[in-house]
Amino acid sequence: MRLKQIKLAGFKSFVDPTKIPFDHALTAIIGPNGCGKSNVIDAVRWVLGESSAKNLRGDSMTDVIFNGSTARKPISVAGVELIFENLQGRLSGQYASYEEISVKRQVNRDSESFYFLNGQKCRRKDITDLFMGTGLGPRSYAIIEQGTISRLIESKPQELRVFIEEAAGISRYKERRRETENR
Ligand code: ATP
Ligand code: MG
Repeated sequence: MRLKQIKLAGFKSFVDPTKIPFDHALTAIIGPNGCGKSNVIDAVRWVLGESSAKNLRGDSMTDVIFNGSTARKPISVAGVELIFENLQGRLSGQYASYEEISVKRQVNRDSESFYFLNGQKCRRKDITDLFMGTGLGPRSYAIIEQGTISRLIESKPQELRVFIEEAAGISRYKERRRETENR
């Protein structure tokens, strides 16, 4: 799994449609304070299903929608699309054979979120299920932020186990068992 491109429109400071390509093994995003670097990571976590506004550095979910500047009026919809290369077939189920996976989320001012997988409308759960056990998810280890390493080092054995189970790819089976048992 490799993130190939991020497309943003109306998300936080990215009011105009913006494409960020990741064509090389290593890509650095640099710029002055407040230019929107962290907003790019917020966008990735948001598409993957982050449902806590606080984790996206806002008070409510609609805070991710461009809320205007001195020169521009606020807009009503935010959308982000992530395009992944799925060459190693890390995903399970019907998407295993797709070479490219597009995951998209939109939100409007009524706080309604819409999710799409390869252009088809889907549920948030379809996206979280798809990436479970791949290390990619709103709170997964693919995104290592300031403080993540120390949290890992200081975590209790039970918390550490959650990371290890995700890395080993078994968390999706545990989740399925939990769902079955709760039925
Ligand atoms: P630093 O180097 O300080 O970490 P950064 O490049 O990570 O900065 P971000 O935190 O990504 O910067 O971006 C902050 C900017 O995004 C601020 O200027 C803020 O006004 C703008 N911003 C955040 N949410 C919105 C929104 N909903 N509408 C418009 N602008 C927004
Ligand atoms: Mg930042």
